Amino acid sequence: MNAPIAYLKGVGPIKASVLKSELRIETFGDLLDFYPFRYIDRSQFYKIKDLQQNSAEVQLVGKIISFNSVAQKRGSRLVAKFSDGENTMDLVWFKGVKWIKSNLKLNVPYVIFGKLNWFNSMPSMPHPDLELYSDYKKGVQTKMQPVYPSSEKLIAKGLNNRTFIKLIKQLFTEKKPIKETLSPNLLDELKLISKKEALFNIHFPINQALLSKAQKRLKFEEFFFIQLQLLRQKINHKKKFKGFIFDKVGENFTNFYNNYLPFDLTGAQKKVVKEIRKDLATGAQMNRLLQGDVGSGKTIVAVLTILLAIDNGFQAAFIAPTEILAKQHYNAVKEFLNPLKTSVALLTGSTKTKERTIIFKDLKEGNLKVLIGTHAVLEDKVIFKNLGFAIIDEQHRFGVAQRSKMWLKNKIPPHILVMTATPIPRTLAMSVYGDLDISVIDELPPGRKSVKTAHRFDNNRLKVFKFLKEEIAKGHQVYVVYPLIQESEQMDYKDLMDGYESLSRYFQMPEYQISIMHGKMKPEAKDYEMQRFVKGETNIMVATTVIEVGVDVPNASVMVIESAERFGLSQLHQLRGRVGRGNTQSYCILMSGNKLSDDAKVRLKTMVENSDGFDIAEVDLKLRGPGNLMGTQQSGVLDLKIADIIKDASLLKLARQKAMEILKDDPNLINQTNRFIRAAYLEKIKNATLWSNIS
Ligand code: ADP
Ligand code: MG
Repeated sequence: MNAPIAYLKGVGPIKASVLKSELRIETFGDLLDFYPFRYIDRSQFYKIKDLQQNSAEVQLVGKIISFNSVAQKRGSRLVAKFSDGENTMDLVWFKGVKWIKSNLKLNVPYVIFGKLNWFNSMPSMPHPDLELYSDYKKGVQTKMQPVYPSSEKLIAKGLNNRTFIKLIKQLFTEKKPIKETLSPNLLDELKLISKKEALFNIHFPINQALLSKAQKRLKFEEFFFIQLQLLRQKINHKKKFKGFIFDKVGENFTNFYNNYLPFDLTGAQKKVVKEIRKDLATGAQMNRLLQGDVGSGKTIVAVLTILLAIDNGFQAAFIAPTEILAKQHYNAVKEFLNPLKTSVALLTGSTKTKERTIIFKDLKEGNLKVLIGTHAVLEDKVIFKNLGFAIIDEQHRFGVAQRSKMWLKNKIPPHILVMTATPIPRTLAMSVYGDLDISVIDELPPGRKSVKTAHRFDNNRLKVFKFLKEEIAKGHQVYVVYPLIQESEQMDYKDLMDGYESLSRYFQMPEYQISIMHGKMKPEAKDYEMQRFVKGETNIMVATTVIEVGVDVPNASVMVIESAERFGLSQLHQLRGRVGRGNTQSYCILMSGNKLSDDAKVRLKTMVENSDGFDIAEVDLKLRGPGNLMGTQQSGVLDLKIADIIKDASLLKLARQKAMEILKDDPNLINQTNRFIRAAYLEKIKNATLWSNIS
């Protein structure tokens, strides 16, 4: 199976090079793994009189009784009269006319196959698949014929569907050895067919039932080996990266927990703190992803874990992707820690040199226990005395390279907790973050009212403005958000400014105060406007998506999203999460034009009907597909041949579970029963390196 594909009869160097460049097929084995994307039923023969408009491909048997070529502007067109004994129809060729013409046999039975063209209720078949009936009878007769993915380049080199069928058939008829890759126990327990039978039936299904079995077996296998890889990586990680042991629950934690916790933790928060504490005692480095919907209360979890670090003699760092967020975390953490007299500092791009020098010194000497900040914290100049714990908020906004810097801030890497408010569907998380430990806060603090969400068309804007006035009259504040997309940045800024102007006309000073905030403003100016809004000095915050993540102004009760149809679901959900953070009823109004694409309609409807971030993420996954959801970064794990994370979710779960069971008993796959798995696994990891250890 590892033999170069050029050695297969009928391939040769030219075809081999196209197979490699177009399909990455280099060996016999690769060709076997090149699966059809659909099958056509060739068990059925039609009569011309029974042909239907809008049918899929059809197959007929009959003779060609005459043909002639018609000159055209370019080249010529060949038309043959095909008779099934009762009626006739035309077969038409526009390309390769010369070759066809010299090879067509008159009055000999042919099997023809293809799609129909209809003109004046008369069918014709352009470029039919043509086979002599005598050859057809000789061939291996399976009912379903495979259709392989194709391209112009492949066809130009003679690699059409027929050729693929012939080549792949050869691999079976010449009895090339096909190795089993799963253990007999697994096959038995899950009632999976053998690899060999599965491969044969995926290419040449004997019947529908066997095709289904073949698909199940191969999908399971595909998931299984990815999970095996991810889980082994996780295990190895724990062996390879020693971690600081936090075994004390000391003064700071206890004091804070007993005396200063401003509210009771939710059950989910308690559960997560427990999971983290357990990690911190194992002696392996923690590498954990904390998922929690917007407003689920991740910050307090971060604070408690920071206290654990301090109690055990370590420093902690907490980084966020934007200045606003970092500042907000800083304010929150400082307030929480105020009674404990623990030192906290903020480091961002705009921290003044003088202050910076002090921070660096205190950090190095260990006087400063907690550093909160932006990317600035990652810089090499920032040296900790003994960093033991690092929290990364909204990790998807940091690149892998950036995050890896956090790992290097101590002799052995600090424990890492990455937090995200962008829920990732469980199945996707299993694939993409399968090597991480995952905690989920799946419960909101008590008393939250879900945000009432409505979709309004642009021509109702005045009514919306009126509603905003009512809310402001009650003492609440309002966000109005505009899209800002790089490709259309100029236009977007214009929309933002136009919107600001029209709001200013309707909400006039001095009765109303409006803030504006966007990415082109200097950090100080943004900060100033943000603070005015936080303090309640302004009623309306007009902004681009810079306010998307994390901003916490509990008094804000309305989120108006302009051109909502241009936002993705997760972004809409994040934006909506900016309101409904206090106890008052809050609202989200999605403004849009009248012309909406089908996808946009689904997105807006989903937002109106759902408030749960995980439900929304599931819809998003279905709309956009896993690749787009996660970016290209992890495409390795998502680049699946046959399985589908969404449609085959239950098989994925099963595969992960089985991989876990096997590794639990036999972490190095050395048991005799697992020998096939081991061999296949080694083969697979030889060819694929998964991404780095850095989470
Ligand atoms: P997020 O997960 O979006 O970061 P935050 O940590 O900002 O959420 O919490 C959102 C709000 O809920 C904050 O005002 C916080 O003080 C409050 N909060 C968090 N946990 C609880 C709780 N258990 N009970 C009541 N309020 C809570
Ligand atoms: Mg947060």
